Amino acid sequence: MKEKIIIIGAGVSGLVAAINLEKAGFNSVILDQSDRVGGRVKTDYREGYQFDHGFQVLLTQYPAAKKYLNYNLLDLVEFDPGSCIFYHQKKYYIGDPSRKLSLLFPTLLAKIGNVADKLKILKLSKALKKKSFDDIFLAPETTTLVYLKEKGFSDEVIKKFFKPFFTGIFLESELTTSSRKFEFVYKMFAEGSAAIPKKGIQAIPNQLAAQLKNTELEFNTSVEHIKANELVLTNGKTLAFDYCIIAAEAWPIIANLKNQESAWKSVENLYFKVKEKVIKKPLIGLIADEAALVNNIHYQPIKKSDNYLLSVSVIKQHNLSKDELINRVEEDLAIYCDIKVDSFVKYFKIKKALPVMHTVNYMMPPSETQLKDRIFLAGDQLSNGSLNAAMLNGESAARAVIAKIKNGFINVN
Ligand SMILES: Cc1cc2nc3c(=O)[nH]c(=O)nc-3n(C[C@H](O)[C@H](O)[C@H](O)COP(=O)(O)OP(=O)(O)OC[C@H]3O[C@@H](n4cnc5c(N)ncnc54)[C@H](O)[C@@H]3O)c2cc1C
Repeated sequence: MKEKIIIIGAGVSGLVAAINLEKAGFNSVILDQSDRVGGRVKTDYREGYQFDHGFQVLLTQYPAAKKYLNYNLLDLVEFDPGSCIFYHQKKYYIGDPSRKLSLLFPTLLAKIGNVADKLKILKLSKALKKKSFDDIFLAPETTTLVYLKEKGFSDEVIKKFFKPFFTGIFLESELTTSSRKFEFVYKMFAEGSAAIPKKGIQAIPNQLAAQLKNTELEFNTSVEHIKANELVLTNGKTLAFDYCIIAAEAWPIIANLKNQESAWKSVENLYFKVKEKVIKKPLIGLIADEAALVNNIHYQPIKKSDNYLLSVSVIKQHNLSKDELINRVEEDLAIYCDIKVDSFVKYFKIKKALPVMHTVNYMMPPSETQLKDRIFLAGDQLSNGSLNAAMLNGESAARAVIAKIKNGFINVN
């Protein structure tokens, strides 16, 4: 087909858009300002170690991930359905005993909330498993904190479990994130696993890119702005297009969106070599002490010589320099988790990790991805910050473009 379709952004959303265009017989060109595919899903490989840029997991029940990814080839390493909570120098294991029986007694005995809280956690899992995505995303929205209080959870279980757990997912510590997002994530955790590909999170976009046969990828190519049917690159070149999908932030490159600058949540991710594992099971560690700067920790599953690689996430804001932060994190690990680090290895600050969204939806229907006659939007930030939404919105934008080319109008929902 002769239409010139350009996709801006080789993140998960742009890649899924291109996959759908190819399936319908259309070849596109993907431009990305960075040097590789993946966008916010990145891993660096150094000295036999893998460094994901920020701790992120694939929730295996994501419908879009099941559709676009081959989990066997990704060689997923799954976490157990629970967490190891550090509180006041003690360690508690809690989790879903219906999925991992060995978590039954530790969960019942853990001094994390009362028995009623633990029963409510199980009841909520059961209720959300039955709830459809429509039921979740059409429900009135409140904050996660208000939602948990309305469900009758005690302040103690909110403080020791829900806050540290969802701070790591929402990248904000006040649980102001929409209750819809909470229900969606909780449902996904209840129904499936949290996993990371053995070769790091970058294996996800790599696998999507490998599905493209007739799509051109141009890296280190930054779009400065879009005028009519032409892209202006930062190197001064112009590229004409018939259709354009913006699978990236649109406001910096579209003149009349300039006042719609998006806000972002950030995270800092530090890696340390350690000799011992204080969490023996494949669980995410949460630090529930409010004075701690560290939110969560996990070990990479592979041991190299006599070292494990420990990944640490810091979500709270602070005024420390990088060196001061490293010292403070080492102190936190020693005080709260009894971890003595061998050496510091790597630091990432991801300034634009998740979009701040006051209202969230499951996905954009194709008809709502159209910004202008021939310009369409994709990306997670249209719906909710997740791999699932990024994939679904890439698919929606592609379906809208295909319908427009074939019928002259968008008749798909
Ligand atoms: C630290 C962290 C933790 C996360 N945790 C999870 C998690 O556990 N589970 C989950 O489901 N999701 C998680 N996410 C969110 C998930 O990574 C995103 O939802 C998803 O990657 C968004 O994909 P995208 O394609 O919409 O956007 P992006 O990945 O942001 O892709 C946009 C692309 O566009 C390019 N671009 C931007 N502007 C231009 C321009 N002007 N010209 C050319 N190229 C441009 C960028 O370089 C980028 O490659 C996390 C994200 C981060 C960063």
